[in-house]
Amino acid sequence: MTGREGEGLTKVLGARSAGPLAKLGLVTVGDLLRHYPRRYGDPGTLTDMDRLALGEHVTVMARVARATVRTMRSRAGAMLSAVVTDGRHELALTFFAKRAGALRPHEDKLRPGRVGLFTGVVSEYRGTRQLTHPDYVLVGVDADDAEEAMFEASRPIPIYPASSSVPSWRIQRAVRTVLDPLTEADVEDPVPDEVRALHGLPGRLDALRAIHHPVDQRAWQQARHRFRFEEAFVLQAALAQRRAHAAEQEATARPLRGPGEPSLLADFDAGLPFTLTEGQASVGEDLAHELSQARPMQRLLQGEVGSGKTVVALRAMLQVVDAGGQAALLAPTEVLAAQHARTLRSLLGPLAEGGLLGGAAHGTRVALLTGSLGAAARKEALLQAAGGEAGIVVGTHALLGDQVQFADLGLVVVDEQHRFGVEQRDALRAKGRVAPHVLVMTATPIPRTVAMTVFGDLETSSLTQVPAGRAGITSHVVPAGNPRWMERTWSRVREEVDKGHRAYVVCPRIHPDDDLPAGGGATAKDFDDVPDLLELVDGDGAGDERPPLRAVLEVADMLRETPALAGLDVGVLHGQMAPADKESAMARFAAGELQVLVSTTVIEVGVDVPEATVMVVFDADRFGLSQLHQLRGRVGRGAAPGLCLLVSTAQPGTPAATRVEALAETTDGFRLATLDLELRSEGDVLGAAQSGRSSSLRLLRVVQDADLIADARREATAVVDADLELGSHPELRAAIAAQLDDEQEEFLERA
Ligand code: ADP
Ligand code: MG
Repeated sequence: MTGREGEGLTKVLGARSAGPLAKLGLVTVGDLLRHYPRRYGDPGTLTDMDRLALGEHVTVMARVARATVRTMRSRAGAMLSAVVTDGRHELALTFFAKRAGALRPHEDKLRPGRVGLFTGVVSEYRGTRQLTHPDYVLVGVDADDAEEAMFEASRPIPIYPASSSVPSWRIQRAVRTVLDPLTEADVEDPVPDEVRALHGLPGRLDALRAIHHPVDQRAWQQARHRFRFEEAFVLQAALAQRRAHAAEQEATARPLRGPGEPSLLADFDAGLPFTLTEGQASVGEDLAHELSQARPMQRLLQGEVGSGKTVVALRAMLQVVDAGGQAALLAPTEVLAAQHARTLRSLLGPLAEGGLLGGAAHGTRVALLTGSLGAAARKEALLQAAGGEAGIVVGTHALLGDQVQFADLGLVVVDEQHRFGVEQRDALRAKGRVAPHVLVMTATPIPRTVAMTVFGDLETSSLTQVPAGRAGITSHVVPAGNPRWMERTWSRVREEVDKGHRAYVVCPRIHPDDDLPAGGGATAKDFDDVPDLLELVDGDGAGDERPPLRAVLEVADMLRETPALAGLDVGVLHGQMAPADKESAMARFAAGELQVLVSTTVIEVGVDVPEATVMVVFDADRFGLSQLHQLRGRVGRGAAPGLCLLVSTAQPGTPAATRVEALAETTDGFRLATLDLELRSEGDVLGAAQSGRSSSLRLLRVVQDADLIADARREATAVVDADLELGSHPELRAAIAAQLDDEQEEFLERA
């Protein structure tokens, strides 16, 4: 950003004032100006000084009698006490600060004899009425005359996101210091004039004034709308550029084999033990068509849990391998990557044994590459990827590493996206000599505008049916405090196991003595543990008297002692286990050597053990709806019906109880996702649905602002289509670059 917004606050405000602001992440003028008020205080009604009621929000007109700053003896810090009077009654004003120096500006202004309007909430200290940290407007200082002072005092009071060391009023003062002298030439507007005119939006400087120092409610509302539009517009322009650049890129066309030619895909289809659903077939045709084009496919595949996305992806991968290329499959966790490799090898059978005795002549290999491989296995996998023997390479984010080379990477499939942001997609696209085709898959239904915001660089396809012949899932809420229900829960688990089935038991924590939910101790690098924390909803409407969260290790011990489960083998799985142990736990569970698996949400994403028919979720009321829906999708995947028992400690009538009940009532993922969005805050939504980007979206709400986002997208696309490099829109180009910097920074912090 140019103009004055790139200037450092130290230069503009001095080190003393700028230091504390830096702790809030406010370093430049632009940072401070984009630190918008969280809400606006009521200016209060003009009140007579003989009618000051405790606890009331008032504005009084009075004269300063005296003001003194002193350091406090009882606790660290300084205090300014002033007294104001209307001639008959007195009112104390009190300001606190860490250092006396911070109070000098108030002392300078509150000179005896000056008249002003003072606004705050009335409290009492040692028998005297007082206002703590009042807002005030002094006649002759902040306003020319009493009338103007009245006007100033009737403005809404901006209340900023603040901290204990930088209170809102100090931010307000800093903003005014920076904002007041700015002129049109100092601020640059990324929204072009024509677009502003068309949508009736105020200019940037006017809007900054109105949002930080509004005349009335209408003013800040208009300004806020404008900045929401700006955020959406810059984001959509960046996405439009990304789409346009990608469309210009060249990709290798990977056409289908002709009839009669040897083809992995044809052989695979011929051996498939089921018929594709209509959705699988038609999405498959779209993918086949796009893969045979010489420009990179960029597609998002949404599909309900269990709708069979893996087969769709595998068929696309086989088409690419048939055409001489390689495919990479990227999974969010090691458990899932290992499972994918196993699944693909078993689906492919001899087709995955290319070059081996007994393998198909035109077969290929599936290599697994994760961070935890032993040196020898890793070297082998790297060689297979680089030499091209492995047509399919499955891995975690380790595949993004520089050491990983492909002979001819033609397709990248990202499974269960939400931990892969735009930057990771870019890193992968950069791996091939020419851009590979990209397919991103997600099981969480994504509302249209979230998709536009988070995946705006991708086209979307959906799988809405689940394959026929699934018995489905029944869910029940089990009150944790009811011993009879809990007993019944374990006897149901026993019945299922006796039928040859298996059970998951999910807990939110690993160790009973951890304060944090599972994953709390893990680093950002440990992808397996991220899901645990991401969507865990914390005690809304709960109060402190709730029992502690249940933990994997404690529950596993308890189950081994539970009479109903006597003789069963109970295993554990969580993110703090060594990768090899995790894999062996999963494999033993899949093979039936363990019949009960107690785990964290590590199993949330995509784990597929068809014999698992029952899932018990402890503290179900503490998880987000989408996450519970994902978890539940792990059972009832075979022919036998699934059962999900949601153990809850939520009091009836609380939002937590509502969530769990909603889940028990419906299995419609799209309804649940929408409900989930309604029940949570925006930050959660963006945080879970995307990684990064949040720093550039301060005011925009992806759900409520759907229309605005659609408008901004249309305008931004038109601007970019007319002028791809934005040569005639330098302000917009600068805003996009600034946003990319932010993202880059966050990406690096997370990596
Ligand atoms: P998800 O979309 O949740 O990733 P998967 O791809 O893991 O679902 O598929 C779930 C299960 O359904 C797998 O065991 C898979 O083999 C099976 N499956 C996929 N497509 C079909 C189909 N058309 N008919 C029957 N079963 C299918
Ligand atoms: Mg899957």
